[in-house]
Amino acid sequence: MTWVAGLTVTGKMTCDGCGRVMRHSERYGYICEEGKPPLCLCVDCSRARGYLKLKRDEKGKEVETFL
Ligand SMILES: [Zn+2]
Repeated sequence: MTWVAGLTVTGKMTCDGCGRVMRHSERYGYICEEGKPPLCLCVDCSRARGYLKLKRDEKGKEVETFL
C-alpha cells in the first residue's frame, strides 16, 4: 500500500529523487510505501513518478494534486 501526502517545505529539504534542495514554501510529495523508508520528492520527481495528477477544480481550472 502506498500513501502519498502533498506537503509544503519548511526551511530547506533535499529531494530524495534528484537531490535538489527544495526551498521554503515549495510543495513536495511525501511518499510512504509499505516496507520502504518514506521519500520526500520535489514536484518534478513526483510528477515523473506519477504521484502528481492534473485535475480540474470546481471552476474548471486545471490544478495539480497529489494522489
Ligand atoms: Zn526531485
